[in-house]
Amino acid sequence: MKPLEPELERRRRTGLYRKPRLLASPQGPEVVVEGRRLVNFSSNDYLGLAADPRLAGALAEGAARWGCGAGAAHLVTGHSEPHQALEEALARFTGRRRALLFSSGYLANLALLTTLAGRGDTLLLDRLDHASLIDGARLSGARLRRFRHNDTAHAARLLADARGEKVVAVDGVFSMDGDLAPLPELARLAREHHAWLVVDDAHGLGVLGETGRGSLEHWGLDNEAVPALMGTLGKAFGTAGAFVAGSEALIETLIQQGRGYIYTTAAPPALAEATLRSLEIVQAEGWRRTRLRELVGRFRREAGALGLPLMPSETPIQPLVAGSAGRALRWSRHLEDRGILVTPIRPPTVPEGTARLRITFSALHEDRHLDRLLEALEALPE
Ligand SMILES: *Cc1c(COP(=O)(O)O)cnc(C)c1O
Repeated sequence: MKPLEPELERRRRTGLYRKPRLLASPQGPEVVVEGRRLVNFSSNDYLGLAADPRLAGALAEGAARWGCGAGAAHLVTGHSEPHQALEEALARFTGRRRALLFSSGYLANLALLTTLAGRGDTLLLDRLDHASLIDGARLSGARLRRFRHNDTAHAARLLADARGEKVVAVDGVFSMDGDLAPLPELARLAREHHAWLVVDDAHGLGVLGETGRGSLEHWGLDNEAVPALMGTLGKAFGTAGAFVAGSEALIETLIQQGRGYIYTTAAPPALAEATLRSLEIVQAEGWRRTRLRELVGRFRREAGALGLPLMPSETPIQPLVAGSAGRALRWSRHLEDRGILVTPIRPPTVPEGTARLRITFSALHEDRHLDRLLEALEALPE
């Protein structure tokens, strides 16, 4: 019987022990945590929709009409009209033939990569790709190759050596760094090597592009360039779940073979109603994206002037790398003492020696929130 205490103890000793913070308020620019009101720079609720009353209203109406649980997996009796309407709306939004709902982004990536590659094939992932892509790649049984972060020359060498069917999979916006994958160059490489290109746009959809269509809109790429697009609904969309958008054949293959689609209960239909409402708001309220750009611009100007170690990110994800886990913890505590919540991100979520504060912005942050953040960052401890 494997003893569990030694590893827990090691984590406590090395500053890697993690535990969830307890919120006594809805998600938002200010949250109540363990009895204190804190300004929150630690959510993925980029557009400020998670607690929007219009979404809560759609959820409540949906529950009144459809009840709570879906009661079964999609292929049994769990697929109802709101799910179908949402899949059609997401297909229109992304300009694809079809879209397919998943209960989470984690599951969507497992289903997608295990469907596109198997034993004898090769999967190429960026070193900083999200854990769900890595786990999907491992589960697929294909040969997994990692290229250096955003290094397309390295990716090209690995592709040239790859055996079997090939898949390149990247985050559109890297979740812990906030920078963008060089999608035009990766699309060119993938086409040249007849490889699938999978883009996980969890942090791009809703945020990037004039109308919130994400990384592809940002780069002006069409569906042929990126034949498999994954998006999550729990970040900018403010609800929960995820989808894959692509060709008729891709979606039908996922329905037949995607174990992360087949062997799990469909999300509640009421949630699909809430996401349908969110999708309208995401497109109609461009001011939310404009506001985010303003906040990020001001943060980078003023934090840069303070000499803080900014990363090359133009997105609402603005990390400050501390290095050791201990230092990231000290920085986070310093901010919390000043009423600001920025949770430290430590290995294994980020590579060893790059523990950081991951500051994220929401369209609902006010200037006074940013004033307080910048003031607290002026005197970070060692
Ligand atoms: C959050 C995230 C996921 C997982 O999505 P969930 O719906 O939260 O399971 C997948 N990929 C990336 C890049 C993410 O940031």
